[in-house]
Amino acid sequence: MKIGLIDVDGHNYPNLALMKLSAYHKTQGDNVEWYSVFGGQYDRVYMSKVFDFTPDYQYYVNADEVVKGGTGYALHGAGGDTYRQHDDKPLPDYIEHIMPDYTLYDIKNTAYGFLTRGCPRGCDFCIVGKKEGKKSVKVAELREFWNGQRNIVLNDPNILACNEREDLLLQLIESKANVDFNQGLDARLMTPDTARLLGEIKIKEIHFAWDRYPDKDKVLQGLQIYATFARKKPHTHIAIVYTLVNYDTTFEQDLERIYTLRDMGYWAYVMIYDKKHCAKQYRHLARWCNNRIIFAKCPDFKDYNHKLG
Ligand code: SF4
Repeated sequence: MKIGLIDVDGHNYPNLALMKLSAYHKTQGDNVEWYSVFGGQYDRVYMSKVFDFTPDYQYYVNADEVVKGGTGYALHGAGGDTYRQHDDKPLPDYIEHIMPDYTLYDIKNTAYGFLTRGCPRGCDFCIVGKKEGKKSVKVAELREFWNGQRNIVLNDPNILACNEREDLLLQLIESKANVDFNQGLDARLMTPDTARLLGEIKIKEIHFAWDRYPDKDKVLQGLQIYATFARKKPHTHIAIVYTLVNYDTTFEQDLERIYTLRDMGYWAYVMIYDKKHCAKQYRHLARWCNNRIIFAKCPDFKDYNHKLG
């Protein structure tokens, strides 16, 4: 078969589903390539769209069958009569658990994947609970998508909420790879044991999240535990806390979180909810806080001149 792939969001971040589909079809002896309007007729074209804010593919797709999938379609309903609705159904197990074809994006030394899916928190602004379930469940062993690469990027929504977190963290320690928990760890679930395990993983930059102001005590307690039991270990690293603004906090609460984190040795990273429609002050806040050089030079937001920024 001649298989075409379309990464509807663009190629800035590798699309895991497409890498797995590519791997699967190659094992079947199929010819797999990025779809091209000049590529003639395809037997099947897969279109994957992760984000709901990116526009859909605008052109005619010359294929016997077009399969659309991904959260970006499932959330808003995709396609017309000519498309078979994929409706974000999970990939079948024999594709879901295959080693991704990293050559698709010319990735040489980084593995991408999920060890867990789901999250029990149910934050209003987040789709994970609806999409993946309100429980964090182990879905893969590390070896499933990692075969010795120097770097591992994990997209897990809440690995610390998984009952098997210890086993998974041990696998990451044993890998000796640089690990990036890119979704932000749930500091509210930090215990001394978890912090010690995290401290043994090679992490250049660790990410936590503080989304809800009322969680202040639990978040700060978790960050304190991490600072006590893990951060002084040999793999000292930058510790970032994703800080959601423009959702249900006041600007004063946003500043308070930023200053509190800074005083604890963490670096707040402002994440703006609904960036497209937010007030200007949030853009200024992000430009000030998220640039480490500016933030170091100008520790107080009231002294920040956003015009010179
Ligand atoms: S804790 Fe994170 S992953 Fe879980 S629901 Fe909230 S934002 Fe989503």
